[in-house]
Amino acid sequence: MEELIAVRVQEASGVSPHLLWARGGTFHLPSSLVERYGLGEPLSADGSLQISPKMAGIAVSYGAELRLRRAFTEKPPWSCRLPVSYQIIPPRLRSLLASALGFWQRHQVSRWAAFPGWPLDLSADFLEDWESGHPGCFASGPTPVILTHDLDSAEGLANLVKWFLEAEEAVGARSTNFVVPCAWPLDHSLLGQVHKRGHEIGVHGYDHSNRTPFLDGETRRRRLTEARDLLERYGAVGYRAPSLFRTEALLKDLAGLYTYDSSIPTSGGLFPVPNNGCASARPFRLGGIMEIPLSLPRDGSLRFLGYSPDQVLDLWIDCAQKIAASGGVVVLLTHCESRFSGNAAMLHTYRGFLKFVASSGDFAFSSMVEVVQRAHNFASPESVANISHDKPVLSS
Ligand SMILES: [Zn+2]
Repeated sequence: MEELIAVRVQEASGVSPHLLWARGGTFHLPSSLVERYGLGEPLSADGSLQISPKMAGIAVSYGAELRLRRAFTEKPPWSCRLPVSYQIIPPRLRSLLASALGFWQRHQVSRWAAFPGWPLDLSADFLEDWESGHPGCFASGPTPVILTHDLDSAEGLANLVKWFLEAEEAVGARSTNFVVPCAWPLDHSLLGQVHKRGHEIGVHGYDHSNRTPFLDGETRRRRLTEARDLLERYGAVGYRAPSLFRTEALLKDLAGLYTYDSSIPTSGGLFPVPNNGCASARPFRLGGIMEIPLSLPRDGSLRFLGYSPDQVLDLWIDCAQKIAASGGVVVLLTHCESRFSGNAAMLHTYRGFLKFVASSGDFAFSSMVEVVQRAHNFASPESVANISHDKPVLSS
C-alpha cells in the first residue's frame, strides 16, 4: 500500500478561502502526490508544508482514494472466530478487558492511529477541497450535529427513555437510535415512544455477534433482512454495524435495503481494529448508499483509553469546532448503558455537549435524513459539472 506522508499546513495569510480551515492542521498525503507534484520541496525540516501556487490543480481522485484506504475492516476479528458469541463474556468484564487494552496502548498512538490520525483526521476532506477548488457542501451555514445512540441491550433502551431523550428534547434535538433486531426482546412500547417523540430508529446489525460482515453472501443477506419488522414499524432507513465492523461486501448489500449507512468512523483509533476510518467528516456516496461518517470519537473508545468525563467533553467540543471549520458534519455516538454514557458523570458530559451546541451559533442539531438529502442535492450532476479549479494558495 502506498506510503502516506504526514505534514502540517503552516499558518498562512492570503490563502484561497476554501483552504483556510486547514491552517495549523496535520494531514496525511499519498507519497505519489508528493512526488508527482514536487511537494517534497516545500516540506521543511520540521515537517511543515507550505502550499504554493505551483501545486495547484491536483487530480480529482486522491481524496476519494484516501477515504477508502482504511474504510473497511476486512479481516474477521478474534471474536468472530470463537465457537460461541463473544457476548457470552459478561459486559462488565468486556469493558474491563477493553480498558486494560486501552491503558496498555494509550501512549502508543502512532501505532494504532498512524492513519487515520487520532482523535480526528480530515486528510481526505483537505484533498477534496484542494482538488475541487471550492468548499464542501456543509461549509456554509451552521454545521449539522447528529446525535446517535447504539442500543446494544434492553438496559440501553430503558436508559435512553429514562434520561437521554429528555436531555435532547430540552435543547430541541432529536436523536437517531440504532437497535439490534435479533439479540434481546425488543420492548415495542418503549421503541414506539421513542419514535412517536420524533426520534429516529435505525438498525444495528443482526445479533451483535460481529459475524454478519464476514459471512458468505447468502447468509449475510438473510441476516440483513431479519430487521424487516423495524424497517416497517418505525420507517428505519439507516444502518450502523455492530462494533463498527464493516466490509465492502456488507456495504454493497446494505445499498439495496437502506438509504444510508453510518458505520465508518472518521478516525477509528484503536477500536475495533487499529488504523481504521475514512479521514473524512463529510457524507459521501459508497456504491449505491450514502455513508455518513461517525466523525466524533465515541464514548466507549474514550473511556477505554482512560479519558475522564471532563476530558471527553473538551475533546468533543474541540473536534466539533475543527469539523465545523472544515465544512463537515458532526456525528456523535453514545451508548446509553451505564458502563458507557448511562451514568451520572457521563450524562453530565453529554448534557454539557448538548448545551455547547445549543448555545453556539456555529452549529444546528440535525438528523441523518436531512443531511442525506442535502448531500444528495449537492452531488447532483449540475453541481458536479460546476466544480471550479481555482488555485489553492497557502503561503506564510
Ligand atoms: Zn453496538
